[in-house]
Amino acid sequence: MACDACATLRVMGFYRDADQIYRVRELEDFPWLVHGFGTRNADIPGLFANLATLKQIHSSTCLPAGGRAGLIGEGDALLEDAPGAVVAVRTADCIPILLVDQRLRAVAAVHAGWRGTAAGIARRAVEAMRERFGTDAGDVHAAIGPGIGECCFEVGPEVAAEFGRGGIGNDIGNDVAAPPVFPSYKAAQELSYGGPGLSLEASIADRRQKAERSERLGTGQAMGPPHYADKVHIDLAAENRRQLLEAGVTDERIYASNLCTKCLSGDFHSFRRDREAAGRLFSFAGIR
Ligand SMILES: [Zn+2]
Repeated sequence: MACDACATLRVMGFYRDADQIYRVRELEDFPWLVHGFGTRNADIPGLFANLATLKQIHSSTCLPAGGRAGLIGEGDALLEDAPGAVVAVRTADCIPILLVDQRLRAVAAVHAGWRGTAAGIARRAVEAMRERFGTDAGDVHAAIGPGIGECCFEVGPEVAAEFGRGGIGNDIGNDVAAPPVFPSYKAAQELSYGGPGLSLEASIADRRQKAERSERLGTGQAMGPPHYADKVHIDLAAENRRQLLEAGVTDERIYASNLCTKCLSGDFHSFRRDREAAGRLFSFAGIR
């Protein structure tokens, strides 16, 4: 049950404030930092005149914003360490990740959809911070924001069995078929936690239930493999978490929202739910 308690603490890290923006309590320890994961009811561009963004291309390309505002270029992670600057990514089911170097006061905003995740964008972004700023991964805090949950990211068994050879990415705002190989599916399963992201409370209750069930069965695992009937569900957040760990970020400094954008229509845009009508959510980090 010790692990369950840890996961619960992490879930509790996220809360929605009066501006309809999700914040991470642990990141509020840094007075120099501005950060947040916008909902559909928040006007992030209206809050920040100097927002820097990317033309997102589902890649592993990381770009330094260098104190600039506006559209910086093509890529999927924006790096910044200039005081007064704010970087952002836009998502509607893809996973937004904010990286914070607590020592060097540097940040990155990462857009991790299916293809970007498969291309290793989260791991690459930590490396890019090291190359650009000299970041030590041990100083990095990582917040994995709202995105499509394991509950809703469903693929057929034949596709799951052949990761890397099916066109799985198309439904999460990805125009390109045939994503690259996704070798760590097993590892992602093992690291996944949280379950259906109906709400924070439901997620916690669900996890507790699973833990109690597995304790009864003596399996010692809070989560079974993500199979729902004959469909396999993929946990993109868990895969990104695995990549962050691989890059050297410590487990206790990775905070996951466990909020599913498709389930929670009141808070979030979702490409899978709303298709072409879907708007985009802004996730941002900056330096005061
Ligand atoms: Zn869902």
